[in-house]
Amino acid sequence: MPKKEPVIFFIGWNACINCGACVAICPQEAGFISPFDTIAVDRPCDIACLLCEDICPVSTITHKPA
Ligand code: SF4
Repeated sequence: MPKKEPVIFFIGWNACINCGACVAICPQEAGFISPFDTIAVDRPCDIACLLCEDICPVSTITHKPA
């Protein structure tokens, strides 16, 4: 399977309800968490599984290539 390209996530803060689902499902090591208890948006994700985007109940996570 080809290696995925790193991504940077964005969260629509007005829509986020701080449910924590994105953090709970994230396979990154502990610490890939933002000060807002969401997945980190300040550094690239090199796994890029995008599970956080899929699980977000308000569909407010998006990404772009890092
Ligand atoms: S899953 Fe979506 S609504 Fe829940 S904390 Fe993460 S960004 Fe916010």
